[in-house]
Amino acid sequence: MIPAEFEYYRPTDIAGVIAILEEHGDDARVIAGGHSLIPMMKLRMADVPHLIDLQAIDSLNGITISDGTIKIGAMVTQHELINSAEIEKAAPIMTEAARQIADPQVRYMGTVGGNVANGDPANDMPGLMQCLNAQLHLIGPDGERTVQARDFYEAAFMTDREDEEILTAVSFDAPKGGYAYEKQKRKIGDYATAAAAVQIIKEDGKVSQASIAMTNLSDTPVWSEAAADALVGTDCDEGAVKSAIAAMLDDIDPTEDNRGPVAFKRHAAGIVLGRAITRAWSRA
Ligand code: FAD
Repeated sequence: MIPAEFEYYRPTDIAGVIAILEEHGDDARVIAGGHSLIPMMKLRMADVPHLIDLQAIDSLNGITISDGTIKIGAMVTQHELINSAEIEKAAPIMTEAARQIADPQVRYMGTVGGNVANGDPANDMPGLMQCLNAQLHLIGPDGERTVQARDFYEAAFMTDREDEEILTAVSFDAPKGGYAYEKQKRKIGDYATAAAAVQIIKEDGKVSQASIAMTNLSDTPVWSEAAADALVGTDCDEGAVKSAIAAMLDDIDPTEDNRGPVAFKRHAAGIVLGRAITRAWSRA
């Protein structure tokens, strides 16, 4: 398939991007790695008369870790994440999750910013950002602002981002304790049928804090506070894990598609969350 004709821009700074977005409104869209947008354009499901490439904007690159805060530029690729020794040390759940996204070819191009901003419920980074309580940094004609990842997703492909804003970076406190990103998919390289991101802090043999987010089980990522609460104060015994799974199942709302009927997705959600909690607890 061949996309409809478009005008291509490659600005070298953010002001240049915003100027084009302001000029063309809905008719303009930024492109990062292109591995979500280009297929949509080829299938004619996205019509983008003005395409703004972010590849030449240096300020959107780079990973910094300072005073326990991790900041990842929007144009950092999944490949760079996987190969960052600093990220693996400070936030190993990022490495574990990024390794399970797509395949090496997609990961060479696909960016953290594109994955987070896209609003596709099947993307793995949004749930992970919610689990880590990340801040999303946006810039637009009215300046910069920060949104909590837990408040960003409104519906499938609909987020709190205005059309004339771009995501510049994500940031979060280096997570403490045990972690796991567990994903069930039909085959290598596929999106999740169900995935779970779990962080657990253990103190005196009990869970003192937990955070749980689920992917591709609703039209947005699902941060399940109730599931995490079910673990707090327990020693992550079988009963606690079952309670957490039951609480998570109350929060998700999967729909039937080519990854399976609702009952199968709910079953898969329970399995991945159980495995993720067990692994995170063993690492806590
Ligand atoms: P693009 O495709 O360039 O952009 C996606 C959208 O985000 C566009 O609407 C664009 O305008 C917008 N956007 C991009 N950057 C910004 C920004 N900085 N600010 C504002 N808006 C922005 N993803 C997963 O998470 N898990 C998977 O298992 C997975 N499997 C895949 C398998 C295949 C075969 C393919 C082709 C893709 C798969 N993906 C998967 C998606 C892949 O990870 C994408 O690359 C990623 O979701 C989007 O990143 P991108 O840089 O390619 O964004």
